[in-house]
Amino acid sequence: MAQHFLLSREAKTLSLPAILKMADAEIETTFRKVRWSATDGAPVCPCCGGLDAYDCRRPQGAPRFRCRACRKDFSITSGTLFAWHKMPLRSYLFAIAIFANEVKGKSALALSRDLGTSYKTCFVLAHKLREAMAEEMKGRVVGGEGKIVEVDGGYFGGYVKPANRKEDRIDRRFSVNQNGKRKVVVIIRERGGNSVPAVFNTESAAASFIKARVAKGTTVHADEAGSWDGLHERFEMKRINHLEAYSADGACTNQAELFFSRLRRAEVGIHHHIAGAYLLRYAQESSWREDNRRVSNGDQVTRIASLALKRGKSVDFTGYWQRHIPAN
Ligand SMILES: [Zn+2]
Repeated sequence: MAQHFLLSREAKTLSLPAILKMADAEIETTFRKVRWSATDGAPVCPCCGGLDAYDCRRPQGAPRFRCRACRKDFSITSGTLFAWHKMPLRSYLFAIAIFANEVKGKSALALSRDLGTSYKTCFVLAHKLREAMAEEMKGRVVGGEGKIVEVDGGYFGGYVKPANRKEDRIDRRFSVNQNGKRKVVVIIRERGGNSVPAVFNTESAAASFIKARVAKGTTVHADEAGSWDGLHERFEMKRINHLEAYSADGACTNQAELFFSRLRRAEVGIHHHIAGAYLLRYAQESSWREDNRRVSNGDQVTRIASLALKRGKSVDFTGYWQRHIPAN
């Protein structure tokens, strides 16, 4: 049997000891080349786009530049997802490497122990890395003529704890006894290609999203759930009844199930609670990890870093812990 990719040498191109051995200048150059790839690492002012900036390093050595055109100061992380963080660049590299190496996900608490920073910092940082990963699937369309795409849904969140005493327990299958927080993650996954996740209240609400994100001419595989019946009008469909088999007559949704297995394990084993407002971010993280599972860890780190440095300030998390709750 062929060796599993993760066991091979090609999978392991960046290690924590290697990051530890890197000189400060080397780390700085690495980040500059990722941030300003078009100018091969020469600083570009995020304010006016000016190319003429000079080094005005802080006394403690933190890299800083000043634009000759608009006189503004900026750093390597100014105007990116990492703006407002005051961590040294080496810590970012550690954080991204540790985050990338965990195939199912990294808990923010464990990351804070690894980096020696607060839980709050790591919670926000981990979510920003998810935001960076999500950038890659923005507007992504999968499939095409002769290609196969699998579609499936999985329910997350809305857990209602059973009461202690038997006589107090309610039937949790009735919607009146649920808390309304249950959501469905729908995954569209191309065989041998990329995936796109989304979150809905019910599976049937996903039809127009699927039609928008799957190219014409694609063969779509789905299970027997009635929610996918509407897709027949647009695509050639293959359905599989899971009560009878997981794969029969060339129809299966095993690639989609693999994604759910990863996300479910992240929920149960790593984060314990991934429901609510950020469910989509966790789904996007799992999807990115599936798509890049055969990419070496060094390349994964470069990819995440470049997505984070190319994306502007965080939509979800800029000043997250500093937010004032309005008094009412
Ligand atoms: Zn400028």
